[in-house]
Amino acid sequence: MAVTTHDVLVVGAGLAGMRAALAAQARGSDVAIVTKVYPVRSHSNAAQGGINAALNPEDSWESHAYDTVKGSDYLGDQDAIEVLAREAPAAIVELERMGVVFSRDEHGRLGSRNFGGASHARTYFVGDFTGQAILHVLYEQLVRSGIRTYNEFFCTQLLRDGGGTVSGVVALDIRTGEVHQFLARAVILCTGGIGRVFEPSTNALICTGDGDALAYRAGAPLMDMEMVQFHPTTLQSNGALISESARGEGGHLVNRLGERFMAKSAPNAMELASRDVVSRAAQIEINEGRGVDGCVLLDVRHLGAARILERLPQIRELALEFAGADMITDPVPVLPGMHYQMGGIRTDIRGATPVPGLFAAGECACVSVHGGNRLGANSLLETVVFGRRAGEAAAEFASGRPVPGFSESPREDEERRLRALVQRDGTGRTAALRLEMGRTMTSRVGVFRDGAGLAEAEAALRSLRERAGAVAIGDKGRLFNQALVAALELDYMLDLAQCVVAGAIARTESRGAHTRLDHPKRDDAHWLRHTLCYAAEGGPRVDTAPVAITRWEPKERRY
Ligand SMILES: Cc1cc2nc3c(=O)[nH]c(=O)nc-3n(C[C@H](O)[C@H](O)[C@H](O)COP(=O)(O)OP(=O)(O)OC[C@H]3O[C@@H](n4cnc5c(N)ncnc54)[C@H](O)[C@@H]3O)c2cc1C
Repeated sequence: MAVTTHDVLVVGAGLAGMRAALAAQARGSDVAIVTKVYPVRSHSNAAQGGINAALNPEDSWESHAYDTVKGSDYLGDQDAIEVLAREAPAAIVELERMGVVFSRDEHGRLGSRNFGGASHARTYFVGDFTGQAILHVLYEQLVRSGIRTYNEFFCTQLLRDGGGTVSGVVALDIRTGEVHQFLARAVILCTGGIGRVFEPSTNALICTGDGDALAYRAGAPLMDMEMVQFHPTTLQSNGALISESARGEGGHLVNRLGERFMAKSAPNAMELASRDVVSRAAQIEINEGRGVDGCVLLDVRHLGAARILERLPQIRELALEFAGADMITDPVPVLPGMHYQMGGIRTDIRGATPVPGLFAAGECACVSVHGGNRLGANSLLETVVFGRRAGEAAAEFASGRPVPGFSESPREDEERRLRALVQRDGTGRTAALRLEMGRTMTSRVGVFRDGAGLAEAEAALRSLRERAGAVAIGDKGRLFNQALVAALELDYMLDLAQCVVAGAIARTESRGAHTRLDHPKRDDAHWLRHTLCYAAEGGPRVDTAPVAITRWEPKERRY
């Protein structure tokens, strides 16, 4: 099976990938998915809190859209945000009809919970394992559809024809070590987030941003990469997420003195201000000595055992296991940790990137609905709304294009390159460099940033890049060579780390999740703009682009 041909090839089988594949098939395309892990192991599986939609009669899509615009600190593109909010109710109903057993209220209707930055309770959920519930239902649909999935294939290159249009991918079959070529009339990247560029992160170890790097290397711009979300409540021991649903259900954040410190920065919304605001407030408490062993405390005891066990069973277990705290009887120590990448591959509202034949959706894409700060529960929504749109657009593109011509050489070249990588006599270990990169990013490019720290990060990444070019691959074999996969992932992550830093250096203001201590104010006159990183000799070249504003003019953001 060294070469296969499909109309539409989707890379990634998380929520965005599966939704895109189903949509492309519904438009008549022959579709296949290439994925480096089994579909149900995708990070979407870890989503806890829920998915947003203005479904209640007293709510409106305009209110959802406005909250999202405000949450984005006015950096989100309002045309895309309107699509997200308008199409959300139908997307939830569709998931429910497919079989997602959303939690119900006392009247038997779909139950909603409060989430940060939202003016209505519009987050629909399945306990605190919403992502798993949706992912498994979409997987059932995928199996029913007969769409071919190439599991445990690691995509290493995008193919392009003579005119520069994307014509497929090259991928390593992890199980056998063979390299395959997949020809396609259109490719959709749905490869998820870049969480592991930072250490620690709430993201699974597989979230290494491969698709962002593949697109970047093929000439697509990465947009707003400096916009990295630090979630206010993660565990110190391993970075695991304690979902916002704990605060949505009524949990409090307190400092060492027992004060609900959010009263200082968000007197109205308190713990349910948007995440950038809460993370900054928590980090200030910790930095100024009002924390407890480098953390603040999340207290849900007043909710009572019954509600905690019904609504928050998974995070109770996480806190018990990894922090030794039982939420029913103890407050849980938490701190801000890397959680989500707002930026990514620039796309239009149908998922098309500026590179012909290449589409993107889900966390790897930047359409941009999250701008400077994502509201909790808008990301699962983005995967299904824009996954569907990208699938439809790719199917249309594919139907108007002949099957790309075939040549053996890309596959052979890649096989030679990977062989040489495995065989070389290197120095240093991938894991050590990955850890060094992640810790550098967290310490220099974290919740608070400044020019000097960013310059240090830039220099550290240059040195890491040099050393990464010479790491030894410990496993010289072909079957399941995870050492090879890890080295390729590190190579991708270094590109992305460089883009995050380049964007953060360029953006001399504070907006959303990007807080520059040396430029503490939002600067709409110069920076109501997206940053764009293009691959260039010696590192990213930064450009900017305007933000789409449809009806909400920027104003000061208060919670
Ligand atoms: C712990 C946690 C909790 C969260 N909770 C929520 C929540 O409650 N609500 C919410 O809205 N959002 C939440 N999020 C965010 C949300 O879950 C993600 O943004 C979303 O699920 C991403 O989906 P995706 O389809 O884009 O990518 P993923 O689900 O990450 O899937 C990526 C896919 O790409 C494939 N892939 C990657 N690289 C390659 C390669 N080189 N070759 C082949 N295949 C590749 C992988 O195999 C995988 O199938 C949470 C995130 C985390 C980490």
